[in-house]
Amino acid sequence: MTAAVTIEKFTSLTPSEFFYRNKEIAGFSNPSRALYQTVRELVENALDATDAHGILPIIKVSIKRDRDNERDNVFSVTVEDNGIGIPPGHIPSAFGQLLYSSKYVLRQTRGMFGLGAKMAVLYGQVTTGKPVEVISAPINSRRIYYFKIRIDIKNNKPIILERGYYSKTNSWHGTIVKVYLEGDWSRSKSKIYEYLRRTAVIAPYAELVFSDPDGNIVYFERSTTKMPSPPREVKPHPYGVDLEMMKMMLQLTTAENLFDFLIREFQCVGEVTARNILNNAGLPPTANPHRLTLEDVDRLVRTIKKMRDIKPPRAYHLSYLGEEIIETGLNAILRPEFVAAVTRKPSVYEGHAFVVEVGLAYGGGIKASEKPQLLRYANKIPLLYDEGSDVSFKIVNEEIDWGYYGVSFPAPLVVLVHICSTKIPYKGVGKESIADVPEIEKEIISAIREVARRLKLYLSKKRKEIEEAEKAVTIAKYIPEVAQALAKIVDSINPDNIESRLLKLLNQKLKAFKIKSVNEVVVSIE
Ligand code: ADP
Ligand code: MG
Repeated sequence: MTAAVTIEKFTSLTPSEFFYRNKEIAGFSNPSRALYQTVRELVENALDATDAHGILPIIKVSIKRDRDNERDNVFSVTVEDNGIGIPPGHIPSAFGQLLYSSKYVLRQTRGMFGLGAKMAVLYGQVTTGKPVEVISAPINSRRIYYFKIRIDIKNNKPIILERGYYSKTNSWHGTIVKVYLEGDWSRSKSKIYEYLRRTAVIAPYAELVFSDPDGNIVYFERSTTKMPSPPREVKPHPYGVDLEMMKMMLQLTTAENLFDFLIREFQCVGEVTARNILNNAGLPPTANPHRLTLEDVDRLVRTIKKMRDIKPPRAYHLSYLGEEIIETGLNAILRPEFVAAVTRKPSVYEGHAFVVEVGLAYGGGIKASEKPQLLRYANKIPLLYDEGSDVSFKIVNEEIDWGYYGVSFPAPLVVLVHICSTKIPYKGVGKESIADVPEIEKEIISAIREVARRLKLYLSKKRKEIEEAEKAVTIAKYIPEVAQALAKIVDSINPDNIESRLLKLLNQKLKAFKIKSVNEVVVSIE
């Protein structure tokens, strides 16, 4: 018997077709997650358009039920920022062509895949049939441009349905993006609020307003005007370059020989290092970069990877927050009684520079919980999903002995972990949890220990002060009796005077304590 042979048909997919079929890869798996992800992508673009350019962000987010629609699960999400705006020539592709981005450079931004805004547009288009509406006023332009754009999914091209411009009557610059989509507000509500709250913690220099579909308005006011320094673009570090990238760089370079190529195209490579690399690889410094054989390129890459003496990458392109901003953010949103933060020095994994920052907040407005409450961030983006598989979760719950630092659970403890890098080792394409890279793990542990030691000191001081305060209360009870007794012995003293003077002295001592619960003791003495 002969088997029926079917002829396989081969085709290829454009990026938009691929992501149309695999929306969950980019976080758009269902109406609840899609609503959350849309807010997140648009807010991150808004922050990238402001803080990365030295502008104090003012961001307005609004989610509304779409009344024009018979269905009750259609929402509009509008995000407005005061950022640099988008040149009109780029607006159609920025919102209507997947994998189109201004962030494909070696510089830390929140976005970098060229996907986020388009996924929101795509999801909205597929579930409601409506186009995205974009209004943008570039920072040095005299015009405000508006567009309505749809994605031609088959060809991964924008379709412009409407376009036009107004003349500016004031100096406003920025962007407003409005997407209609099928969403599930009741299921995504708590995540969206939590996302915005965590954004407010990490960006206390931003002004954030959110109006939700139930008519509530939440305002996170700016609590500092200090901003992280904007990230600069850098050249790649030799340790972080693989065979394909090296081939591409060799093709694109304008350097005439290998020696110049290494010095010009890489960071941390000077004349001595360039000569060492070429010596070790057995390649002549005068070789033409465009004419290397594949074996030569491979040898060059492998030689570099084996070398140990190239200076580690610089971290100019990273935009970390610094201790002051982290402490301000934690104080403003959580109102704790104790806060501490540490920013570690730049470190390296697989040729990529990274910086770890940790903040710790304790007591005050924080509710006690059975485990430390973890706030995870990567490149200033809050990570809310897949907490259990994140490297920080493992460290905070398994590696750190909190008892040693004087914390016994349930306790009001919040741990913030922020990792900055142009290459965050995410575990999945969902970009929600970070893998256990040993170098990163080590940095997180050291950072947590450092702030935990400060917490330990604070807690032991507090315990001592409470003990003293309690002693004082006990002694205070005897003051009237002592005063009477003294007055009997020494005729000329008024017992009331002695009593009030002794109480005053005691209270003075207690008031020197900064701890709230002790103040309560002070009040009870008075
Ligand atoms: P990514 O953020 O990964 O680059 P997006 O699809 O989210 O990809 O955005 C595409 C591009 O559109 C961005 O690289 C940026 O240049 C531009 N863009 C999107 N939103 C804004 C905004 N609010 N302000 C300025 N530029 C924006
Ligand atoms: Mg983006």
